[in-house]
Amino acid sequence: MSEGRAGVEGQDPGGAVDRVPTDLFIAGEWVPAGSGERFDVLDPATGRPIASVADAGPDDGRRAVEAAAAAQPELAATSPRERADWLNAAYVAVMDRADELAMVMTLEMGKPLAEAKGEITYAAEFLRHFAGEALRIEGGYQTAPAGNARFLTMRQPVGPSLLITPWNFPMAMGTRKIGPAIAAGCTSVIKPAHQTPLSMLALVEILAEVGVPAGAVNAVTTTHAGEVMEPMIRSGLARKLSFTGSTKIGKVLLEQCAERVMRTSMELGGNAPFIVFADADLDDAVAGAMAAKMRNMGEACTAANRIYVEEPVVEEFGRRLAQEMSALTVGPGTQEGVKVGPLIDDAAQTKVAELVQDAVDGGAQVLTGGEVPDGEGYFYPPTVLTGVSPDARMAGEEIFGPVAPLTPFTTEGEVLGLANDTPYGLVSYVYTRDLDRALRMAEGLEAGMVGLNQGVVSNPAAPFGGIKESGLGREGGALGIEEFLEVKYVGIAGPRPAQEG
Ligand code: NAP
Repeated sequence: MSEGRAGVEGQDPGGAVDRVPTDLFIAGEWVPAGSGERFDVLDPATGRPIASVADAGPDDGRRAVEAAAAAQPELAATSPRERADWLNAAYVAVMDRADELAMVMTLEMGKPLAEAKGEITYAAEFLRHFAGEALRIEGGYQTAPAGNARFLTMRQPVGPSLLITPWNFPMAMGTRKIGPAIAAGCTSVIKPAHQTPLSMLALVEILAEVGVPAGAVNAVTTTHAGEVMEPMIRSGLARKLSFTGSTKIGKVLLEQCAERVMRTSMELGGNAPFIVFADADLDDAVAGAMAAKMRNMGEACTAANRIYVEEPVVEEFGRRLAQEMSALTVGPGTQEGVKVGPLIDDAAQTKVAELVQDAVDGGAQVLTGGEVPDGEGYFYPPTVLTGVSPDARMAGEEIFGPVAPLTPFTTEGEVLGLANDTPYGLVSYVYTRDLDRALRMAEGLEAGMVGLNQGVVSNPAAPFGGIKESGLGREGGALGIEEFLEVKYVGIAGPRPAQEG
């Protein structure tokens, strides 16, 4: 059991946060940081601490990666059925505790309780999905073209893996990596974001409870991400890095991984265009824009960041979107009826306010929102801007907030050019009822994913990922486990003809 469940007095009536372990999890033991240091986890609705967790240093990181390396042979030798059973049991345990885990997530991250519960279900689905994938790790047997040899191909675990996750989906970004790692037989060290360590610590405790062996999953929380992770990456003990976060940090990590030629999966930033043609079903398009924009208060890599609307319908679309947005209740995520919680921290709130001011200075009109409210917490109101210039800062940067910028367009060629004019390529959304146009757009958009008449593409059974500077590799679906497997080919001579008699 955990030591150091030293929850700071907080705003958690049921005590969900106080039940979460707050130490590092290394080699199957909950241990404090070697330095004894701890850091506070803040509730973004109030800015006040809700828990205090161990603040790992480089030595703790080293111990964690050593533990993962030591446990690798044992985990690789387990049967697929055994690994699938752990993942299925973890799925059940997470769903059983969904209410409590959702409360923890809302308190550390800010999203409304109903959304947090939705993320718990989504996160748990990765465990169940990869339980199935563990049983489907395939190989091959092939006759050489000349007929004189056979090719046997097998898939083996990549080896100890480092998993780094962001704060915006504190549980799902973890299970999307831990699920396939366990399914493939890879041990891991997970490092959640310093703003939201509690959800991951709770998950790691559940994995240990369902029988995942000591050392197979280790967790390190820290406020010194670079100092702790770089020696782990360069150690030569880890063979894989799976990272979800910003493109800026992703590039730094890719350079570090080059030294040991590590396998990498990179789920990085986005700048999603959301395109509405005049022939679209406008009810669907408004509902889709609300989902694509407001999921997670706009703090999602898949968030609609640029909304292009064909000229004849831009006014009506803007009016209807502003109506929906202004009807959303803003407040602490724990309060009944709240649809929009706080942003993650004051830096996020300041950035969103600056981006809106820049767009307004460039000629955009505010249809709703646009003012930082008084009072505690890092709130920003749902905001719709129209007439946003393609040169506005928010057209080139992730807004990561509840702000919908509308830009009119007149032709398909023009909007395709605007949509692709970005170094990012994670997801694009298109609303049209014209099948030919839908196919042309789906093929022409430079993105790893396209939402066609739908505003949410994430699904544990689908391959999630980006192209260009949005990333490398895919998570989820049948491809997700491939990221944690190496292919080995065995060339076999013969068979020679049988010697009769
Ligand atoms: P971030 O600053 O890149 O941080 C992501 C993670 O990397 C955190 O755990 C962070 O630790 C860690 N980190 C920071 N600097 C590091 C370093 N030098 N070495 C090793 N690790 C380091 O991103 P964020 O602001 O938390 O998350 C938002 C970004 O994630 C957005 O760009 C969003 O689009 C992207 N995202 C992408 C996807 C996807 O699937 N494509 C999904 C979700 C989010 P600390 O906590 O200490 O900062």
